[in-house]
Amino acid sequence: MIIDFHTHIFPDKIADKTISYLMEKGGIPSFSNGTASMLINKMIEADVDISVALPAMTTPKQFDSINHFAMEINERYKNESKRIISFAGIHPDCEDIGGKMRFIKDSGFIGIKLHPDYQGTFINDEKYVRILEYAKEYDLVAVTHSGVDCGFLGEPVKCTPSLVKDLIKKVPHSKLVLAHMGANEMHNEVIDALCGLDVYFDTAYVLRFIGEEKFKEILKRHGEDKILFATDTPWSDIKNDVNIIKSFGLDKKTENKIFYENAKSLLGI
Ligand SMILES: [Zn+2]
Repeated sequence: MIIDFHTHIFPDKIADKTISYLMEKGGIPSFSNGTASMLINKMIEADVDISVALPAMTTPKQFDSINHFAMEINERYKNESKRIISFAGIHPDCEDIGGKMRFIKDSGFIGIKLHPDYQGTFINDEKYVRILEYAKEYDLVAVTHSGVDCGFLGEPVKCTPSLVKDLIKKVPHSKLVLAHMGANEMHNEVIDALCGLDVYFDTAYVLRFIGEEKFKEILKRHGEDKILFATDTPWSDIKNDVNIIKSFGLDKKTENKIFYENAKSLLGI
C-alpha cells in the first residue's frame, strides 16, 4: 500500500489556468493537468492507493468555494479503491476562526492545510497559534508548507525551522506536519532545530533534490515513525518519487512506515 500525503487538485474548469499561473509564478514544470481524474490516473500508474489533497487558500474569501470543492471530493471518492481525501483550507485572516474550525471539524475533514508564504503570515504569528490551538482541540491534522517556496524567492521565508520551533513552544500539536522534509532547501537547519521533535515531515517535492545521504541523515535523526511519503503532485511525478524512495534500499519495515503506516495512523483510517 502507498499513501501520498501531499497532492494538489483544482476544480476541472479552473485547473488549466491555475496550473499555468503557478508554473509561471514558481518557474517550475508541472507533471499533471491538476484535475482529480488525472491525479487518479497518476495514482494508478504509481500504485498509490490514497492521496491527500491539500488546498492552499490565498485569500480569506475563498473559504466557502475551496471547502465546498474539498467536500465534494471527499464524498465522490470515499468508497473508491483509489481514494482522494481532501483536507480543508483555512486562512489566518478569516473572520471567526473558531466558528470556521468548528465547521471544518463538523464537515468531517481530517485536517487542514496552511501556507504561510501564500497567506502572508509568519508561522509563529498569533493567528496561526490560534488555528493550531483549535486544530489540537478538534484533533485535526495540520499540514503547513515549510521552507523556501519557489514562488516567493527574495522574500523572507515565512516558515523556517526556527520559527516552527517557536510555534511548537507556543502550541505543541502532535499532529503537525511540516512539508518538504521539514523545510524546503533548509535541511541543515531542519537537522539542527527540528529533528527529534514531536512533529511529522512529509517528503513532498524534495525527493528529486535532497540526495540519499541527506534523506537518510534526517531519517536517522528524526525517526522512521515521523516521516510521510508525499509528492506535491502536480509539482512532482508520483511514480518517479515512489522509485526514488525504493532506490534508497531502506529495510522493508522502515519503507512501509514511510509509504503508508505512519500516514494511516495519522489519518485514523
Ligand atoms: Zn504543496
